Amino acid sequence: MENNILFKTVQDNIDSVLEEIASAAKMAGRDPSEIKLMAVTKTKPLEYAEAAYRAGIRLFGENRVQEMEEKFKPRSESGTWSFHNDAEIHFIGHLQRNKVKKALAIACAVDSIDKYETAEEISKCSKALGKTTSILIEYNTSGEQSKSGFENEKELFESIDKIRNLDNLDIKGFMTIAPFTDDEKAIRESFRMLANLFRKVETIHPDLKMDTLSMGMSSDFKIAIEEGSNIIRVGTRLFGSRN
Ligand SMILES: *Cc1c(COP(=O)(O)O)cnc(C)c1O
Repeated sequence: MENNILFKTVQDNIDSVLEEIASAAKMAGRDPSEIKLMAVTKTKPLEYAEAAYRAGIRLFGENRVQEMEEKFKPRSESGTWSFHNDAEIHFIGHLQRNKVKKALAIACAVDSIDKYETAEEISKCSKALGKTTSILIEYNTSGEQSKSGFENEKELFESIDKIRNLDNLDIKGFMTIAPFTDDEKAIRESFRMLANLFRKVETIHPDLKMDTLSMGMSSDFKIAIEEGSNIIRVGTRLFGSRN
């Protein structure tokens, strides 16, 4: 797509998603300014991220380390990258231990912690880089085997007890992906389960001062807002279907 057309298209898409976020928030009696829009740029070239940046987006999500590197190449070991300095890039996919170091050269946050060992490695690498990494715990609320995330509360609670003692990590909250279905009730139940888990963990660990509930994507973000989400992760609605 020619660049000016691309910018215009992405800008229009962002405007309409922001309008929908605002009206969903209003309907739910919430302040729209507490809900952040993350642009998920996976499979799309850098121009798409640039277009979203020009339209005011500062929060970006990628789910593969190699693609994240190709797009947002780090300039140095210290964690700066060639994209804009005031942009936040979060890793949102399943992260293998041997790719943590590369991921942290670019991402300031990993929103998809699905086991203790990943958090442990992120802690180690963050320490070596002299930085603190924000993390979200991913919970599999749909039961779909294709999805990552913790799958039972007992394991989750035990892991949080250990993760919270790791250095250079900041546990911010939770992330989930709803089931892939048109069944609005099932989607809502999935989001509600995550919000309930958040409250449980918050009650056990109030000192963590968790503040993030990342749920809702292109097709279900309105339901997610009704259920308390404050980060909406949107790809398709901003950039078109994936390459
Ligand atoms: C791809 C992806 C998204 C965005 O999905 P869309 O349906 O394109 O909006 C959100 N979250 C995660 C974890 C993803 O992998």
